[in-house]
Amino acid sequence: MNTKSLKVIHSLCRSFAIKVLGELTRSKCCLCRRGEVVATAFGGSISLPHRLCPACFNKLRQPILTGYLLVQEKPVPFFCAGAYEGIFQSLIHKIKYQGEAALCFDLAIVLDKLTGEFLKPEINYLLLPIPLHPKRRRERGYNQCELLAKSLCRRKGKAALTYKPLLLRAKDTPPQHSLTRQERIANVKSVFALKKGAANTIKDRHVILLDDVLTSGATAHEAALLLLSAGAREVVVLTLARTIKKWDGLKTRPAPFETSALLGKGAHPP
Ligand SMILES: [Zn+2]
Repeated sequence: MNTKSLKVIHSLCRSFAIKVLGELTRSKCCLCRRGEVVATAFGGSISLPHRLCPACFNKLRQPILTGYLLVQEKPVPFFCAGAYEGIFQSLIHKIKYQGEAALCFDLAIVLDKLTGEFLKPEINYLLLPIPLHPKRRRERGYNQCELLAKSLCRRKGKAALTYKPLLLRAKDTPPQHSLTRQERIANVKSVFALKKGAANTIKDRHVILLDDVLTSGATAHEAALLLLSAGAREVVVLTLARTIKKWDGLKTRPAPFETSALLGKGAHPP
């Protein structure tokens, strides 16, 4: 059988698999309430959907936002799957305030694609979710960053990522979104601690910090500082979305954390 025939068979099998999976998982999209939630293809692989229809899911293919934070003179790169507005804002709001935890599985598909921008195949990275304070976690019933991280690890496999929730939130601080930039920085000062024995695990490792939204960078900066102080070789920040409106038009970029913010690099291919 020649290569062309094999490609045709592969394409037919793929379409058939998408159709069968779609029938098995059919339900209404939690965002538009009209579209059917069916199996779809994203980044070359067939993805089992959870809560979004293909039309809404496709809106998540956005130009990524990247740059770096300066943590004690060391550049800590960040990668965000899109802007914190429109669909990303709606979905994150649903996850955090409307109990739509299953959306984390859809969004992990997007993070999976995004990690392709920086993961080096020869390295096993530790994946650390930003923790919630136990009180907040009890109220919500889950930490969305943990769900995203676990789901992302399952997709990437053990050779690439190791899920390690090694950070603790030592203080119950007010939500960052209600604060000014200076208040945010003060709010997260020394807010994180390492679990007992975590420093041994972190030493000399490449670490990915996973958060839902990057705003001022204060939270990511504080966590990265702790990890680098504990001996991490490299820290990369990964988030679903990044607020951009607030910083647009500012003559001076928010100091001291952020020194660059390249917009529009590496849009997800269709
Ligand atoms: Zn939809």
